[in-house]
Amino acid sequence: MANNKTFLKSVNQVFDEAASLLSLPDDLALKIKLANSIYKVNFGVRLRKNLHTFTGYRCVHSEHYEPVKGGIRYSLSASQTEVEALAALMTYKCSLMDLPFGGSKGALIIDPNRWKKDELERITRRFTYELAKRDLIHPSQNVPGPDMGTDENVMAWMADEYRRLNPTEIDALASVTGKPIMLGGVDGRTEATGRGVFYSIIEFLNNDKDRKRSKLRPELDGQRVVIQGFGNVGYHAAELLYESGAKIIAVIERDGSVVNKKGIDVHKLKKHFSRKRTFEGFDGYSTARGHFLSKDCDILIPAATEGVIHKDNAAKIKAKLIVEGGNGPITAEADKILQKNGITVIPDFYANSGGVIVSYFEWVKNLSKMRYGLMQERDQEKRQSGLVDALESMTSKSFPSDLKEGFIKGASEIDLVRSGLEEKMKEGYHAIHETYHSDKRIKDFRTAAMVIAVKKVAETYNYLGI
Ligand code: NAD
Repeated sequence: MANNKTFLKSVNQVFDEAASLLSLPDDLALKIKLANSIYKVNFGVRLRKNLHTFTGYRCVHSEHYEPVKGGIRYSLSASQTEVEALAALMTYKCSLMDLPFGGSKGALIIDPNRWKKDELERITRRFTYELAKRDLIHPSQNVPGPDMGTDENVMAWMADEYRRLNPTEIDALASVTGKPIMLGGVDGRTEATGRGVFYSIIEFLNNDKDRKRSKLRPELDGQRVVIQGFGNVGYHAAELLYESGAKIIAVIERDGSVVNKKGIDVHKLKKHFSRKRTFEGFDGYSTARGHFLSKDCDILIPAATEGVIHKDNAAKIKAKLIVEGGNGPITAEADKILQKNGITVIPDFYANSGGVIVSYFEWVKNLSKMRYGLMQERDQEKRQSGLVDALESMTSKSFPSDLKEGFIKGASEIDLVRSGLEEKMKEGYHAIHETYHSDKRIKDFRTAAMVIAVKKVAETYNYLGI
């Protein structure tokens, strides 16, 4: 696995390429590329009769839009350079997908599985206090969300701690996204990143020009998929692909893999993994891991951590399409090898943008204090119902009963969130596709996506006069 310095170098290398293609002046390019600030905190929490010191980071990459946005990761391998690379990716992701945020990212060096729930809550609340003191969590300045090792429960503690520290702040709930629905979350946030990965694959397969180059069939049915990481992103992507007829032939986790060439039952695997926190005991389990990345398959989805496809294993990859569910899974050196071998890569800051897209919906919901669909749902139902009645009386035939309920039903919050997410993923894909095919100097989708993102950030800086 490549290290965190390689990760930051890889992100910056793509940025440099895009800046050069756009002929950006060096001073402006440097301003955009470097993180604006990085905060490191060492704080203590008394637990199990000892004072434990934890190290946390929050990096603000670009404030050309505020609030800045980006997840908080709980991981033992987190570091300052990793957080800087992830914050930069957030700037480019929000810019590419036209979301009104600058980029940020945070991390706490911790193994969340080592601590009991009440201990994790105390640690999280203390970390939140440190961030809130410096406005590094704030509804109009810096809005964290979930990432590796954190979930809706951690987000609930953070939002609640921020609210306690700011009892008169009417927008306190908008200080964090990825919260549970009863605490101001939005329906569909948990599945959003995996669902976005799924939509990106559908867009690719629907686009004949791009798809034909990769020699993939247009139907998802029967496509052989390998997934690395069975957490939030990997599981939801796997579930949607499985339910659409794709064959998940291998899932690689931290302590082993499950392989089945006939296809894995993703629901059963999820049940097993949720109960045992390991794949051990599941049909097709082995302790082998890394080499399954190069298993013969149609689509490979690395959805775990960065640097897993590097110069030493890239040449062995047999997938026709790689979709980066996780952030930074492919190093810059590996990217060149894959390109040479004709393997298409759908880049992370597009493919996994579903999370921040739906976080944007949640933030807007929190500011508006109203759930999506509240004003339209019944009205829509009445109109559709009237239309069915009119059609039935005009034709003297009954509306097909299997379609009637779905046709009449007004759009609920989950319907609207999924529709908005699908629309954004479609828009994003088409922007990348257009840019890629419009300039022969652009050799892959990642560079095309970066050109779009950097152009917009640079234009904003030019208007702002910085
Ligand atoms: P998660 O903690 O829910 O799941 C990660 C899974 O990967 C875990 O099950 C873990 O055991 C496994 N894993 C870790 N290292 C591994 C390795 N070397 N080999 C195999 N498996 C390994 O995290 P997540 O939220 O699913 O995030 C995964 C990736 O997606 C990260 O890169 C994250 O930054 C990115 N991402 C997440 C979101 C989100 O909304 N959660 C949004 C955008 C990007």
